[in-house]
Amino acid sequence: MEKDLKNCTAAELAETVESFGHRRFLAGYLFTFIHQKHVGALDAVTPLPKLLREQLAAEGYTISGIALAEQHHDPDGTTKYVFDLADGCRIETVLLRDDGRNTLCLSTQAGCRMGCTFCATGQLKFQRNLTCGEIVDQVYHAQRLGGKIHNLVYMGMGEPLDNFENVMRSVELLNHEKGANIGIRHITVSTCGLPGAIRKLAACALHPRLAVSLHAPDDATRHKLMRVSQKYALAEILAAIRDYLEKTSRRITIEYCLIHKVNDSDAQARLLIELLRGLKTNVNLIEMNPFDGCPFEPSPPKRIRAFAGILTDAGLETVVRFRRGRSIKAACGQLGATRLKPH
Ligand code: SF4
Repeated sequence: MEKDLKNCTAAELAETVESFGHRRFLAGYLFTFIHQKHVGALDAVTPLPKLLREQLAAEGYTISGIALAEQHHDPDGTTKYVFDLADGCRIETVLLRDDGRNTLCLSTQAGCRMGCTFCATGQLKFQRNLTCGEIVDQVYHAQRLGGKIHNLVYMGMGEPLDNFENVMRSVELLNHEKGANIGIRHITVSTCGLPGAIRKLAACALHPRLAVSLHAPDDATRHKLMRVSQKYALAEILAAIRDYLEKTSRRITIEYCLIHKVNDSDAQARLLIELLRGLKTNVNLIEMNPFDGCPFEPSPPKRIRAFAGILTDAGLETVVRFRRGRSIKAACGQLGATRLKPH
């Protein structure tokens, strides 16, 4: 039985409350006090009968919390929060501000197993998956410190679909009308391309937006950038994407980080068009963000414009994501960079 109540769904809380001989409706107080009022102790859930609070505490039930360690502000409005987890792991969360809309970029693992060569997080040792409570708590801290959160993107440290159960549980909690109540269409889960997990997501009842990081239009180029490509060929990922589109009819975002003289040629843009032909997708082109020891350089702005132009001319909906939060190492691919030793 899960002892951290912050990890529990509303139905699981009701079962727990009932198991102690109390009425199920009392679980509603637990849920709102944890996910709306953000209390950190059972005693703070004052509408619960004292007996129930004592029973829960005696059986070891708690409400977990992550601790804010640092916050860094970039002049462009981006904020990076650094959090300490109970076991000493550190994670980073980024708040991006755009025309009054706040987007929070969440971490799902401490470190990452995927080892992408252009990403600072991928160079850190993988420590562990985050619990559901540790994922949702990033949102609750950011709401307190930075105001209303309009959009969530699971694109921080870690590969979200490598921590499937906890990520999907956190999506359910954050989408819950008695919790943060963030609309499912305002939640994006990204993956570096795990075909089995993409299929599993297609079979779920809840469908957040899906973003798949391709970063290359062919396997040989992808091998240079993403270790995971040795396990899963592009053809396999594309098959899973087709399956997902058929089952959900939802548009998928393709993420493509532009790296100078590696994946940014005109020919590679045309190859990408071929790869995505007939699929309901839009493309996000991301400016690469360097970190100490990174073997790559970002594509020059002129090259980015040319690459984007080829995609747009072919009818692909394309957006260039310009770097944000670079001065505080909060941009895409830079999370954890301050913990890398200079090479
Ligand atoms: S890009 Fe994403 S999947 Fe790849 S190493 Fe970085 S955090 Fe992991």
